[in-house]
Amino acid sequence: MERRAPAYLTQPRDAVKTDAGGAAEAAGANASEGSAARRYPWGDTRRFYSGTAYLRRVFGGRVRKLSIDAGFTCPNRDGTLGRGGCTFCRAEAYLPAYCSPAKSVGRQIGEGLAFHARRCAGASHYLAYFQAHTNTYAAFDRLRALYEEALAHPKIEGLVIGTRPDCVDDRLLDYLASVAEHRYVAVEYGIESVWDETLAAVNRGHDFAAAERAVRRTAERGLPVGGHFILGLPGETDERILAGVARINALPLTTVKFHQLQLFRSTTMAAQYAADPAVFRFRSAEAYIDLLAAILQRLRPDLAVGRIASEAPPRFLCGPTWGGLRNEELWGLLEKRLSLLDTFQGEFFLHLHA
Ligand code: SF4
Repeated sequence: MERRAPAYLTQPRDAVKTDAGGAAEAAGANASEGSAARRYPWGDTRRFYSGTAYLRRVFGGRVRKLSIDAGFTCPNRDGTLGRGGCTFCRAEAYLPAYCSPAKSVGRQIGEGLAFHARRCAGASHYLAYFQAHTNTYAAFDRLRALYEEALAHPKIEGLVIGTRPDCVDDRLLDYLASVAEHRYVAVEYGIESVWDETLAAVNRGHDFAAAERAVRRTAERGLPVGGHFILGLPGETDERILAGVARINALPLTTVKFHQLQLFRSTTMAAQYAADPAVFRFRSAEAYIDLLAAILQRLRPDLAVGRIASEAPPRFLCGPTWGGLRNEELWGLLEKRLSLLDTFQGEFFLHLHA
């Protein structure tokens, strides 16, 4: 990528007080070793704190999350909050083929282990990832039985539970905290945007304050907390997204996941796009990488980045796509972009908070 960097990637360096080497020193980089040998506060030479590095620090080895569809629905679909769901949602688009609520949790874990063994080198640690829909949205006894079925599998060392911010209560969080005394338990919240007008526009059914409350209540119990954000929801310019990074930084999150807006067939958003495409801005992969680089510069350096994009089978997709660009390729493009800019996660954050 030999393009000129957008102004927002370089501007704070000129506007904010310290010199160009200051951030590297503040980040613990050893300037005398040259950029190729810099070691960042997260303990490796990558220019961002990856979710892989975070899990490696926790477990001491390679970790794989095994997705599970335990048959949950969500209050935004079953009529409690609404029936249409979030305008962008097609939850099954992200799930591996082996996931099915018709199979027990134990069977999905077994098939997930085989699935990953076929696709890539094995990991030494496995987590059960309750991924589909809202995985805390059921009676407490049912939740506990499903989580404990996963934990009973001999290969499973912990849980990652994806949910909405308005679907946790003290009883459940206390239970999860008790499990976390001897197993790894993380809760990942779909926050999607830090701006209430965006959340309302996509029919999310909760505001940002709900996300703040849920993240704090979870973190207070010592549980690792993840936040999931979609980049490019209608009405969110690059400037608006970048302004929102300060709100992300203010949350007691452990990990973050970002992904690009994708249009899925048969969703409300697909119909909105067909009616008025001008409301949407789908970024090219290059523009998206620039935006990610700018986000990382502003992001707290202790926030592990678990995902920067998502892939879905073409049969689910409509609207503009990146022509099959794989996530691994995007990670590579991001690393190359950060290297060209000689920047790293938290560079501007550290300038502003020095
Ligand atoms: S994105 Fe989550 S909360 Fe929204 S409709 Fe889908 S499952 Fe429900």
